Amino acid sequence: MRKFSGDTLLVATHNAGKLEEIAHLLAPYGVTVIGAAEKGLPEPEETETSFVGNARIKAHAAARATGLPALADDSGIVIDALDGAPGVYTADWAETGSGRDFIMAMGKAHDRLRETGAPQPWTARFCCTLVLAWPDGHDEVFEGTVEGRVVWPMRGDQGHGYDPIFQPDGHEVTFAEMDRWEKNRISHRARAFARMIDGAFG
Ligand code: IMP
Repeated sequence: MRKFSGDTLLVATHNAGKLEEIAHLLAPYGVTVIGAAEKGLPEPEETETSFVGNARIKAHAAARATGLPALADDSGIVIDALDGAPGVYTADWAETGSGRDFIMAMGKAHDRLRETGAPQPWTARFCCTLVLAWPDGHDEVFEGTVEGRVVWPMRGDQGHGYDPIFQPDGHEVTFAEMDRWEKNRISHRARAFARMIDGAFG
């Protein structure tokens, strides 16, 4: 495994919240984090059909463009009875043309589950893939998942995205009913980050 040895990491995201979270996580390792917007990088098209494929597109494009090691993530919810949908299209299901509507996206997931006639529990998992890429083309991949089920109706008002319909295994509450600290301790993203920190920053 290649270790991160520089002092500056480009984070290939235009999402200010994500950038701040990553900067906070990496601060103890003396890493300065720069966002894609700060470098004027475009958002590349996510044309692959896997989380790792799309994370690689974003990480390598940013590393090539800046000459810095770059980190990108891709995440989503995988629902077994829908053959893995929405998967890499998790964000696309919420697209309205003028923004994102996750209430609509969750409704779509529920409608499709009912149409399939699949019995409950509707098993599902959240997945997060992180790719750390270097300008010479090398990369390291770190994955985190959290198993659970899709529930209906939606419950809770914390969090974001599909949190109100996802109940992680071993819990009676959805991600949207958990406090942020608890969710961030068990989430797919937390697990992928823990692996990256152990592997490349430890
Ligand atoms: P991206 O990786 O930022 O493109 O996110 C993919 C999509 O997955 C987003 O639209 C989120 O709504 C959804 N998603 C990813 N992680 C979570 C989560 O922890 N809770 C709810 N939705 C999530």
